[in-house]
Amino acid sequence: MRLTIIGCSGSFPGPDSPASCYLVEAEGFRLLLDLGNGAIGALQQHVGLYDIDAVCLSHLHADHCLDLCPYWVARTYCPDGPRPPIPVYGPAGTAGRMAQAYGLDEHPGMAAAFDFVTLTPGTRGIGPFQVTAAHVNHPVETFGLRLDHAGRSMTYSADTGESPALVGLARHTDLLLCEASFLDGPGLPADLHLTARQAAEHATRAGAGRLMLTHLVPWNDAARTLEEASGSSFAGPISLAASGHSLDLG
Ligand SMILES: [Zn+2]
Ligand SMILES: [Zn+2]
Repeated sequence: MRLTIIGCSGSFPGPDSPASCYLVEAEGFRLLLDLGNGAIGALQQHVGLYDIDAVCLSHLHADHCLDLCPYWVARTYCPDGPRPPIPVYGPAGTAGRMAQAYGLDEHPGMAAAFDFVTLTPGTRGIGPFQVTAAHVNHPVETFGLRLDHAGRSMTYSADTGESPALVGLARHTDLLLCEASFLDGPGLPADLHLTARQAAEHATRAGAGRLMLTHLVPWNDAARTLEEASGSSFAGPISLAASGHSLDLG
């Protein structure tokens, strides 16, 4: 299982990264976790536009789903003819929301390009991956996602405030790819996002092997984000996600 960070900028694209998008590959199957704004551009540095086998959207905030619109254009108006539909997993209402985002009638919306599948909590097979979805703690319906393949696993927090469900999902995972949107400070809103320290605490409680901090908001100092996580009790390696970086999980 190989993870490539396409976009790791939190809430909106930054100068060095699109918004959230992660490419996970195994056995030749290519799955995208989220497709935030700007991601379709950087994605083409790593794979062909039509080499994606499935897309999984954690939630319907723009910075996690909006580039499904340009991807619909690319699949629909390809000079060689429309490309066959691929599955797009997302929360209830994904098909309608994406049609609306592009100004399409809800029916057929984007149905010729994407087979929309409603995500629910639990485990399903997507290509060679066992994908487990669990509700996390964010103002709209949001799924944390765990991918298991050949005895290895990675867990993606999506956007979340403090979440026991995330700890359960990430139990003994090899990699916790966890959002760290906030820097420590007074008056942080609850049930929205994590600080880097909280991300590390979740990794500790889950017994994760390593922690990668992501959803890095452009106005934060990334070095301080890493420093705050490093000051926690988490004993494993901690790193910052960076657009273009890949990691082999074995
Ligand atoms: Zn976000
Ligand atoms: Zn969000």
